[in-house]
This record gives sequence, structure tokens and C-alpha cells, in this order.
Amino acid sequence: MYDYIIIGSGIVGTNIARELSKYKAKILVLEKENDVANHQTVANSAIIHSGHDPKENTLKAKLCVEGNRLYETMEKELHIPLLKTGAFVIAHDESEEKVLDELYERALINGVTQIGFYSRDEALKLEPNLNDTITKVLSLPSTKVTYPWEVAFACLENAIINGATFQKNSEVTRITKTGDHFEVEVNHQDIIGTKSVISASGIFSDQIAAMVEKDVAYRIKPRKGEYFVLDRKIKGFVDHVLYPLPTAKGKGVLIIPQVHGNILLGPTSTFQEEKELLSNTRDGMQQIRDDVSHLAKNVPFNMVIRNFAGLRASSTYDDFFIQESKEIKNFFHVAGIDSPGLTAAPAIARYLVEEVLKDHHLEKKPDFNPIREKRDAFYHLDETTQQALIKENPYFGNLICKCEKITEAEIMEAIHGPLGNDTIKGIKKRARAGSGLCQGGYCEGLILRIIARETNQPVNKINYYALDTPILGPETKVKK
Ligand SMILES: Cc1cc2nc3c(=O)[nH]c(=O)nc-3n(C[C@H](O)[C@H](O)[C@H](O)COP(=O)(O)OP(=O)(O)OC[C@H]3O[C@@H](n4cnc5c(N)ncnc54)[C@H](O)[C@@H]3O)c2cc1C
Repeated sequence: MYDYIIIGSGIVGTNIARELSKYKAKILVLEKENDVANHQTVANSAIIHSGHDPKENTLKAKLCVEGNRLYETMEKELHIPLLKTGAFVIAHDESEEKVLDELYERALINGVTQIGFYSRDEALKLEPNLNDTITKVLSLPSTKVTYPWEVAFACLENAIINGATFQKNSEVTRITKTGDHFEVEVNHQDIIGTKSVISASGIFSDQIAAMVEKDVAYRIKPRKGEYFVLDRKIKGFVDHVLYPLPTAKGKGVLIIPQVHGNILLGPTSTFQEEKELLSNTRDGMQQIRDDVSHLAKNVPFNMVIRNFAGLRASSTYDDFFIQESKEIKNFFHVAGIDSPGLTAAPAIARYLVEEVLKDHHLEKKPDFNPIREKRDAFYHLDETTQQALIKENPYFGNLICKCEKITEAEIMEAIHGPLGNDTIKGIKKRARAGSGLCQGGYCEGLILRIIARETNQPVNKINYYALDTPILGPETKVKK
């Protein structure tokens, strides 16, 4: 019998697992996909927002500001990538400058301490590619960017070394309360017992809640955000995250430097009914082009290497919904976690455990180990270390992804390492192989064969991403 089953291994579920693993409790994380962080956590802007934008006195505001600070601690303990870019919110005339003043006041109420203004000339000195039409900017130095799924991996790995268990390919299909515990049905067959259930199931959280409650207090309204990705050769085009003024639809379309040197342009904001539809649209792509051109001049659209879209788990409740079910004791909602959920995730986990689960009187583990060892990409190492590694393991000498300079040894580590994976996208998420200019055009076939070899599977069984997404069909010619 588990003490806690956490449904979902996005940034929120994995942070909750890590936070709970500081206490004496038996924890299981269930994930329906074949990998950690396959939904919102893999398709977002990667910004650790300062907290200037959420409405005052909301959980979003409080947990965003606290989460921003906690990322600095996670950087030290888990060695997650964190690029301290700072951010500018941009005004173009006097009426927009008034909105900057309002944002400044809101940021102070929310608890943002690092904040200030730059005149047009000061801002242009710092960011020469800003549009010449700007008149003033609000500066938010505590804004940073991260590599979101790497943070989820780091939190879950750390939770596991501290005793938590992870089960992927495990879709929760029914939840029944029997006496003082729950029976959680997985994949329509296995039953797992637990004293409490924590739903961190993102866009599907209203469906999970409906498994136990008659009246679910919110409904998820998926909100799509589309993006362009620029090649990392463009690094330095802007150094700060650039925001327009926020609107009722959100923070707007931004220009966002990324930790590995790429730049993101996006996201758009469009409500839709479907929970899985992630296609890009002509309107979305056009909107990005139009909107970012107000922020910067000479935007290098010729450097686009791919586009993608993510779905925010926005809800009819006007804030994060983090509370115990009013109908079923020990069922906990962590729902409506749209932006700034990536930023807030470590603070959400702490709030849940320290405030919402207060009555559980959890006892701290004296031997909790907060550290996840540092891992450097091979190409970041100095030549002597590289040569020593190649001598020890010749697979380090075989470059597989030429754009991102990823070796065969690193791909093997991504397959067999902690939270290893056997899909093309899983390897891309872990080793960055296929993330460069050619987007896997050169290396995907090689990676496919390495996965097949290392996992003893036929090549046509290797999935691209989710379950049942093989790249190759059955053989059409049989060798005699
Ligand atoms: C376009 C876009 C841009 C964003 N930009 C930012 C940003 O820059 N900064 C920021 O702070 N936030 C941002 N966000 C918000 C942030 O990405 C999310 O708030 C955060 O990723 C939510 O994480 P999660 O773990 O709640 O959800 P998810 O990552 O969606 O994880 C939920 C998990 O639950 C699993 N699950 C669902 N149902 C079941 C089931 N029945 N059984 C088992 N598992 C199940 C899913 O498979 C999934 O893995 C953005 C979001 C989007 C979409």
C-alpha cells in the first residue's frame, strides 16, 4: 500500500515527488506516456518568470515569485541548466508606458524585488535589435530560462534515489475509494492501493477528478501556443526575454533566448476543445511574424529550423486549483496549472506538502539527499578530458549528431541511464541528438539503429515518440 500515488510526471508531478521524498512516505508516480514530461512540460517557452504579471493575491502570483527563487536552489542541488537572461517588457507610446507603471506596481505587490525601468536609449544600448519604435522598457532581472524536461528528469531521478517509485506506460483508468484507501486501476487491469491520490495530470485533470467527484469545480479549456525555433547560430540576436504588454489572452508573443543558444518566437494563444491536437496553423505562424516584428527589427525568420505547439491546461477556475477534494477525503487536485506553472512548480510542490497536506503530519527523513550529480555534455569538456574518455570508452569517439556534436556514448547513456528511454524523441530530450539545424535528418536513422541494437528490438519496433509511433513499417522485401 502506497501513502501517495501521484498521477502525472510533468514538471509538477516530478517536483511533488521530490518534495514528498523528503519525508517518510511511500510514493508512486504513475505516467500514462512512455516517457517523463511528454505534455505541457515539453512544449512551452521555458521561462522562469519573475512574477510581474499574475493577478495580485492569487496562488499564481505567490507561487511564481517563490518558484523563481527556488530554481536558484535547484540549480545548485540538481545542476539544472539556468540562463539568467533578465527580461524587458516593452512600451511604444505614452499610453503603453502607463501600463508599464501598472505592471511595476503589480510586481511590487506580488513580491518581485528586482525591477526597474530603462529609457529608450538605455534599452537600445543593451539590446540593439529592439524595434526603434520603443519608448521605454520595464526591466525584470530575475527572469531566467531553463530546459524544462531536464528539470523534470532531475527532480524525478532525485525523488527515486530518495525512495520514490516511477511507473511509465501506466494510465490511470479508474479510481475507487474503498474504506479509508483508494484502489487505482492502471491500464484497465492492475489495481494499486494507496492512502492518498495527488492528481498532477495537466490537461487531463478534469477527467481524473471526474473519476472520484460528482461535481468537479473546474473544467480544463486547452489553450494552444505555437512557436518558431531559430537555429542557435543566431545566439546573441537578443540576450533578454522580450515581452510585449500583456493582454486578456496572456503574456503575448515573445522573443526568448534559450539555454542552448536557440531563440524561440511565440507563443500564440488560442482556445480549442481537443486535448491532443498539436498542429501548427497558418494563422498562428503569421501572427508570430507580425507580433515579434513590433518587439525587434530584422528578426531573422530565415533561421527558423522548426515549429511546434503546446497546449496549456487553462481552466474555468481563475487560478491554480490546489486543494483537497471537498467530496472525497485524501484526493488532492493540482489542476489548472497553465503558465506560470513551470516557474511555480517547485513552490506548488512545497505549498501542497507544507500547507495542503499539513494534517498528514509528515515526518522528515534525516537522510534525504538533495543532490543530483552534475553531467556535462561531451563537447563542453576540455580536450584532455575528451581524449581520456575516448580511451576509456571508444563510443565517445563516434560523433552521431553532427549539428549538436553528440557522441554514440552519450546516446547509449540516454538509453540506459537513470530514466532511460528507447524512443527517438526520448533520446533527443536527453542527449539533444537531432535538435540542431538538420533536425535529425542526418542522425535519426543512426539513432534508430543504436536504440534497436542496445535494446534488442527490431528496427521497425522503435517508436518515434509516443506508444505505437514506429518510424519504419514492416519489411517489404525479404532477403533470400
Ligand atoms: C505554450 C505554452 C507556453 C508556456 N510557457 C511557460 C513559461 O514560459 N513559463 C512557465 O512558467 N510556464 C509556462 N507554461 C506552463 C507550463 O508549461 C505548465 O504549467 C507546466 O508544464 C504544467 O506541468 P504539469 O506537470 O502540470 O503538466 P504536464 O506537463 O502536462 O504533465 C501532466 C502529465 O500527466 C500525465 N497524465 C495525464 N493523465 C494521466 C493518466 N490518466 N494516467 C497517468 N498519467 C496521466 C500526462 O501524460 C502528463 O505527462 C507554458 C505552457 C504552454 C503550453
